[in-house]
Amino acid sequence: MSTTKYIFVTGGVSSSLGKGIIAASLAKLLQARGYRVTIQKLDPYINVDPGTLNPYEHGECYVTEDGAETDLDLGHYERFLNVNTSQANNVTTGRIYQSVIEKERRGEFLGKTVQVVPHITNEIKERVQLLGNTGDYDIVITEIGGTVGDIESLPYIEAVRQMKWEMDDDNALVIHLTLVPFLSAAGELKTKPTQHSVKTLMESGIRADILVCRTEHELSEDLKRKLALFCNVKEEAVIQSIDASTIYDVPNMMLEEGLDTVTLQKLNLQNSKQPDLKQWNKFLERHKNPKAEVRIGLIGKYVELQDSYKSILEAFIHAGAENEVKVKLDFIHSEHINAKTIGNKLSKLDGILVAPGFGERGIDGKVAAVQYARENNLPFLGICLGMQMAVIEFARNVLNLKDANSTEMDPRTANPVINIMEDQKNIVDMGGTMRLGSWKCDLKKDSIAHKVYNSDLIEERHRHRYEFNNNYREQLEAAGLVATGVNPNTGLVEIIEVKDHPWFVGVQYHPEYKSTVANPHPLFVAFVKAVHDHSLTH
Ligand code: GLN
Repeated sequence: MSTTKYIFVTGGVSSSLGKGIIAASLAKLLQARGYRVTIQKLDPYINVDPGTLNPYEHGECYVTEDGAETDLDLGHYERFLNVNTSQANNVTTGRIYQSVIEKERRGEFLGKTVQVVPHITNEIKERVQLLGNTGDYDIVITEIGGTVGDIESLPYIEAVRQMKWEMDDDNALVIHLTLVPFLSAAGELKTKPTQHSVKTLMESGIRADILVCRTEHELSEDLKRKLALFCNVKEEAVIQSIDASTIYDVPNMMLEEGLDTVTLQKLNLQNSKQPDLKQWNKFLERHKNPKAEVRIGLIGKYVELQDSYKSILEAFIHAGAENEVKVKLDFIHSEHINAKTIGNKLSKLDGILVAPGFGERGIDGKVAAVQYARENNLPFLGICLGMQMAVIEFARNVLNLKDANSTEMDPRTANPVINIMEDQKNIVDMGGTMRLGSWKCDLKKDSIAHKVYNSDLIEERHRHRYEFNNNYREQLEAAGLVATGVNPNTGLVEIIEVKDHPWFVGVQYHPEYKSTVANPHPLFVAFVKAVHDHSLTH
């Protein structure tokens, strides 16, 4: 076995406590001390990946360089660490079972009865060690989705128990994230739910090494002592995680609480160097002290659940800090935009972003928002479906092709300006079959895109099935909608810009997935700057 150290993060009492942020914050601190760290998420649902999940179910589907459709926590990992993740960083129960069943069909189990223990648990262990065995990491942090005690997470917990048993004490540890609720009637913080969830973990044979306690109020020393005693951990291993105003404060809060120090002690790793958080803190400083404020309308149809657009929201935080501007986002439901409401809804905005999406619902509102931005010289960024809507709007209102549409919305339209790709036509499976992951794009000189990226060739991540129809390119370009980014191998249009407009850009790819604290995405940075410039003229 390699010398990689393994940290498992489990959750107790309640879901949504922010295991992903705690894992990412600890990883950040360890990275800032010079360790090579990666984070993995194990999700206990049966979907093979979250690509087939509605955003209302599970928030945004994040996409990695290698085209994996993953849980949105991987976005946090990349934004915090500035290191790419891959398919290996997100594993679901569906994927585990799929792989075990395929092996069974190939006869790889030599006539044995295939069971949860050992076959499913072995597969889980292999997936965890796969990352460690690359030799690329000193520490692998594995976050177990769900809450301890759930039926679904039992095989994962058993796999963790076995790995801990197999390894030396200082090579694997378990951090348990729990909730310490405040009962306002009693005026007290309560430790009992934490005691119970630690006990549940114990019933599965796992002793938590470190407790991270989510709380709305400071935990007193007495309370920490009580938690330590009843939960069988050392006092210095009871870490308070109080509500933060921004997730980007959490690494510093964990540093203050000593989460990294106690982790390194338990892993028997050298702990002398102080973490270097200079760049991180510079970002925080700018994020918290904006010199101006702008309002950008985010036009989408999943706006009730902000997690649906997680990476876009975070990319605006990075780009805002870079510009020293606070970006206030107005979430506007595209179904609520019509001729009557449009002025009211959009007139106070300094810029418009039309969001990615699937299906017909809310499309008219999106087209109307594009038209508003184009005609009122409002800075505009269209992402994926947002770019496709920009092409449709231009074809309808400038080329006068009134029935122009995407074949996703109207398969029989006479003017399919957005069309399904030839190689997508015969695909019947929905999962994992879109154009996914990183693709190259040539940038045209003298375009906004070229100036923004300051490069001739870029690579960006994709997740879509439909494309700009090149049969309409000449007509559109002659009228002022130009393709400024094109895939060098396939000729597929990746970026469009509208001439005679201060800043109108549509991209077929998803720039938001690549924005990190250390590397705010240039397109978001330039868009926010354009929006800010525009706000000064009004
Ligand atoms: N529904 C569109 C397509 O499949 C856009 C997808 C997206 O916005 N991610 O091409």
